[in-house]
Amino acid sequence: MHDADATQAFLDSLPEVKPGESFRFACHPGVACFNACCGDLTLVLTPYDVYRLRKHLGLSSRDFIAAHVEAALAPDTGYPVFRLKMREDAAHKPCPFVTPRGCSVYADRPGACRTYPIGRATKLGEAGEVVEQFFLVREDHCRGFAEDREWTPESWTADQGLRVYASMNDRLMRLLARQRALGAPLPKQKANMLALALYQLDNFQKFVNDVHLLDRLELTEERKAEILADEEAALDFALDWLGLALYGEGGGLRVVQSAF
Ligand code: SF4
Ligand code: SF4
Repeated sequence: MHDADATQAFLDSLPEVKPGESFRFACHPGVACFNACCGDLTLVLTPYDVYRLRKHLGLSSRDFIAAHVEAALAPDTGYPVFRLKMREDAAHKPCPFVTPRGCSVYADRPGACRTYPIGRATKLGEAGEVVEQFFLVREDHCRGFAEDREWTPESWTADQGLRVYASMNDRLMRLLARQRALGAPLPKQKANMLALALYQLDNFQKFVNDVHLLDRLELTEERKAEILADEEAALDFALDWLGLALYGEGGGLRVVQSAF
């Protein structure tokens, strides 16, 4: 079963939390299980996760990938899959960022760490819109459910700063859906380009500048400068550009002269 299908099957087995429905949860250093869930994890890093973690750690993409990533290719799409490397020097394989006081990258922790204890599943609706559903992931060892604070999926999403993660991830999901619809994995050369554009934003900015890519697209001078100066803007651009370059539709991005 593919990762995405396995995730969907797992979520389908959980109780749904509908919009406005509440659940109780709090996680803080006072809970008996504090840090128990920050180890021995399969933690998939999205492009936006990698960007935020790198910014927090002050690492180049090359150094971050060498230190923290286990990379593979999804067999059905040929897209890269990045997983956070757990530490191998302790029995329960802790996350490299967990400390006795909690998460050392908390302000820029990955989306998956923010989402728990709910799970977010998405699918494309008939008009191509993203339809989301939330599920409660109630794990026996987690004492957070015995706490008093009440949340809805909406208030939890806002409190955890999840909207920007969801928005970037939904755009990646659209690219993946287009590749799946083609029924074959992305050829290796294009997969390498996609990995550069999504996961190595510092090198992607350099590439974009070196080949004058932005001059071939209908972009204002202000937007061009932003893409070259700010990695979050570069990722926002990359998601549209990959749509255009790989599938012929890039969120309103247009070619001035043939670039591909
Ligand atoms: S198991 Fe639950 S309550 Fe305990 S640290 Fe993890 S999320 Fe927090
Ligand atoms: S990144 Fe932070 S919250 Fe996520 S598993 Fe690691 S220590 Fe825990």
